[in-house]
Amino acid sequence: MKKLWLEPDKCTGCGACADICPKNAITMKADECGFVHPVIDNKCVECGLCERVCLNRGEYSQRHREIPQTYAAWSKNPDIRFCSTTGGLFTELAKPILQNGGVVAGAQYNKRNLVEHAIVTDEDGLQKLRQSKYLQSDSNGVYNRVKRALMDGREVLFCGAPCQVAALHSFLGSEFVKLITVDFICRGINSPKAYLSWLSEIESEEQARATRVWFKYKVGGWKSSPKRTRIDFDDGHSVVKEGEENLFMHGYLTSNLYIRPCCGDCQFKGVPRQGDLTIADFWGIEKQLDDDKGTSLILINSDKGMNLFDKIKQSLVYHQRDFSEIFAGNVCFSQSVHIPSSSRDFLISLDNKSFSTALRPYMKQNLVKRILSGLLKRLK
Ligand SMILES: Cc1cc2nc3c(=O)[nH]c(=O)nc-3n(C[C@H](O)[C@H](O)[C@H](O)COP(=O)(O)OP(=O)(O)OC[C@H]3O[C@@H](n4cnc5c(N)ncnc54)[C@H](O)[C@@H]3O)c2cc1C
Ligand code: SF4
Ligand code: SF4
Ligand code: SF4
Repeated sequence: MKKLWLEPDKCTGCGACADICPKNAITMKADECGFVHPVIDNKCVECGLCERVCLNRGEYSQRHREIPQTYAAWSKNPDIRFCSTTGGLFTELAKPILQNGGVVAGAQYNKRNLVEHAIVTDEDGLQKLRQSKYLQSDSNGVYNRVKRALMDGREVLFCGAPCQVAALHSFLGSEFVKLITVDFICRGINSPKAYLSWLSEIESEEQARATRVWFKYKVGGWKSSPKRTRIDFDDGHSVVKEGEENLFMHGYLTSNLYIRPCCGDCQFKGVPRQGDLTIADFWGIEKQLDDDKGTSLILINSDKGMNLFDKIKQSLVYHQRDFSEIFAGNVCFSQSVHIPSSSRDFLISLDNKSFSTALRPYMKQNLVKRILSGLLKRLK
């Protein structure tokens, strides 16, 4: 039986190895921190396909433009814009694909409130893919389904983290004219274990079951939305967790404590991009283009990307910008986050502590660090 070919901390959990295995010998299983990894069983015949498809072998190619065309944009449809994380670009890009009989792949919640990659064929399905979910999406199985749709001659738009887009290209192995890929600027993905621990604590407080988690809820403005999350419950009520009270997003954005280890040394930063298009928040965009309802950054990384962008222009407000503008507001475009060495201990401690109890000491240490670094800056 084949041994795993890489250090676990380098694995992105993309699941391409499991999808490509002709013997179904690979199962993606969660480790003690909640991150999925491939586990190989004795059906393995040592064909080597899994190792070859793995991005960590460094054999993938980044094929797109070094200097993408850059736009600030948003959907003219206020409902789409409000219900999207940023400017609603994903929905606008997906619509012509569906109208043409194609399919769209992206991340949706499942019944357990976890996130998985799914393929949709209509507007109802598209609504489920909309919005950022800040935990790792289970993409196992989606690469095979995308391939089948392409073999059936259908257009496919695939949206995912840059490592998932790279995994899809590696899995397919050759260029498909009818495939268009969209990635996003990616800060890193969180452990589903941490997310479920946080959510179950809120469910106990509210004495109801969560039916929907709406991250970056924009009531109150887009710029302040990263730490605002709305949670809907099965008895019909909702709560909005905001600022430091929003423990999951506060911890994600200030401590990086439950981000997957590979994101601390992400191989997919900067340019060339993995997707034909890249979508993100245009943090730092000038005031004239910021009405606080969500301004998207869109990078056009290939001719295919340009063709699709041309098709949706009439549905957008858009302004061409200089590529150099994006760096100041979005450090995560080019730099990986620092993941603290205490991350693993924190995640394991969730086995016998509530999320808030486990997080509190780390947040205190963080606060002290931030105060000290503020003081040092003033003294300099
Ligand atoms: C984990 C994560 C980290 C991000 N980090 C940054 C960042 O540092 N800086 C920045 O500017 N933007 C970041 N983004 C992108 C940003 O949040 C918006 O997704 C982007 O601006 C698109 O917004 P939209 O309004 O066009 O579309 P939306 O409707 O919000 O579409 C979001 C798209 O992302 C897909 N998606 C959602 N959650 C996941 C997931 N967990 N895994 C894979 N795909 C998913 C959806 O299927 C959909 O296709 C991040 C997104 C995610 C999911
Ligand atoms: S070597 Fe081949 S059979 Fe074995 S796990 Fe990898 S893909 Fe499957
Ligand atoms: S193919 Fe993906 S899931 Fe499999 S080992 Fe490589 S990075 Fe991990
Ligand atoms: S930071 Fe990099 S490795 Fe981590 S999820 Fe995003 S693209 Fe993948």
